[in-house]
Amino acid sequence: MKPSATERLRNLKKAFINQLPEQIKKIRDALEAHDVTAIEKLEDLHRQIHTLKGTAASFGLKNLSVEADKGEQLVKTALKDTFSPSDQWPRQMQEHLAIIEREISCISTDEPECVENLSLALAPTKALLDREAIVYLCEDDPIQCSNLATQIGCFGFKVKSFVDLEKFRKAACAEPPDAIVMDMVHHDLETGGADVIRHIMEGRKEAIPVVFISAYSHLAARIAAVRAGASAYFVKPANPSILCSTLHDLTTREEPEPNRIMIVDDDPYLSEMYSSILREAGMETRTLNDPMQALSLLSEFKPDLILMDMYMSGCNGMELAKAIRQMETYISIPIVFLSSETDVDLHFDARKMGGDEFLVKPIKPHHLISAVSVRAERMKLLRSYMVKDSMTGLYNHSTIKEYLAIHAEQAKKNDENICFAMIDIDHFKKVNDTYGHPVGDQVLITLARMLKQRLRKTDIIGRYGGEEFAVILPGCPIHEAESILDQLRKNFASICFTVGQKIFSSTFSCGVASLSSYPEIEQLCNAADEALYSAKHCGRDRIATAPSQR
Ligand code: GH3
Ligand code: MG
Ligand code: MG
Repeated sequence: MKPSATERLRNLKKAFINQLPEQIKKIRDALEAHDVTAIEKLEDLHRQIHTLKGTAASFGLKNLSVEADKGEQLVKTALKDTFSPSDQWPRQMQEHLAIIEREISCISTDEPECVENLSLALAPTKALLDREAIVYLCEDDPIQCSNLATQIGCFGFKVKSFVDLEKFRKAACAEPPDAIVMDMVHHDLETGGADVIRHIMEGRKEAIPVVFISAYSHLAARIAAVRAGASAYFVKPANPSILCSTLHDLTTREEPEPNRIMIVDDDPYLSEMYSSILREAGMETRTLNDPMQALSLLSEFKPDLILMDMYMSGCNGMELAKAIRQMETYISIPIVFLSSETDVDLHFDARKMGGDEFLVKPIKPHHLISAVSVRAERMKLLRSYMVKDSMTGLYNHSTIKEYLAIHAEQAKKNDENICFAMIDIDHFKKVNDTYGHPVGDQVLITLARMLKQRLRKTDIIGRYGGEEFAVILPGCPIHEAESILDQLRKNFASICFTVGQKIFSSTFSCGVASLSSYPEIEQLCNAADEALYSAKHCGRDRIATAPSQR
């Protein structure tokens, strides 16, 4: 079984305590070096004893931390008088190290917990729905019922439809669905739908999400829906795209993308401790003990936030923050300093250098978690504005190209395939010309929603241009990609768009190519584009596959 976070931290603390004698020996060696008064030697000594102070405090070893702090003050004094060092201080320091050693010998590895019980800080993880969501639709008009069922089905839901309230009630009690779409008025019962829903919910511990559809827009009907526990209310004719988007939100408990935190601390025990705490809170972490390796980890891991120690060998936290901030790509990445430095002036300096926050060690786990997550969330939001198209919420052109390069690289390494598809709406100009630009936008949004809902979680979807979309299908053989896309094509073609009294539908054409035939990205894109062109040329509303070349 995986050790719990508390256990991991306990083990980490033991390991830290066990290596303390060695750590002190290093400090002694540094002190005994015979040019100890040289500034860089002193700085090294300062860093070592400062680290000991911070780590000890973070593991709850208060006395040790206090003694290390006294040691740090001694070195700081010596640092101030480098040019006329007092003869006294190395001896004083030696004596003080002996005190620290005595303190260490008193520490037992069975010390009580160093951090509060972590499990308290954790939100329960929700189960993910890894199958099609089941939706019960109850509507007394058989034609409307069957039409709406088809529309909802096109968005990837498994729909069971009922025209009879009593049959619906029995089915919902026997086998509760993931969501319900309920007509409010049944025959002459003005709130017949709401009454049945209330009845079903009374006997249940967990509510089933319900969406009402109704011919009425007046408040009395809406209040009846609210009293029955409605999550949403649509006046007929309900826009299937918006209705399905609501159903999607109600039924899929999507895990948010974890915050990605890069921890830079030259103390492996501390960095591991922070990492454990943040991972336990659902974040993804990478630790770096050598600050000079920061750039490669930054570009590889793409963190949402950097948690940075102040005193490190190689370069200090302020220098590193400044260097990172001078690069355009990282101009907005949040940097949070975490140090046992209590000098407030230095906190200001650190902020001037581009730090967003200065946290003082030791820090309580839930303070660390909240300070880090608030800023990382903001960064994620900022980043999503940069990588996503605002109208459809899909990745924009440059991002989808970036993902294509990354996935192609990865696929080649793992000897897997990916397919790349380009989708273009047919005669879209005519849609705009006939029904107006805003209606055209609705068609684009509907296709985007459908792609998001119908494709697999691992597929990457982007808006390539105006009415052009692109899809990356990782780990997918070409014939499978063809059949997935063709199913999407059929679904899209059967969606009805209503504009006043008019109803119309739209189609798309698609070109798809396989990395196995076109191993270079440019070739792959061109092949998909040419296939799309041939799909258009052959009459539209179809999928064309780029010829296999191997
Ligand atoms: P084809 O079947 O050959 O693709 O014909 P088409 O009319 O779809 O293609 P064409 O490239 O001639 O026209 C594309 C139209 O898409 C023109 C442009 O005004 C429209 N368009 C591009 N972006 C948007 C948008 O964001 N919203 C709306 N409503 N229309 C857009
Ligand atoms: Mg088009
Ligand atoms: Mg076009």
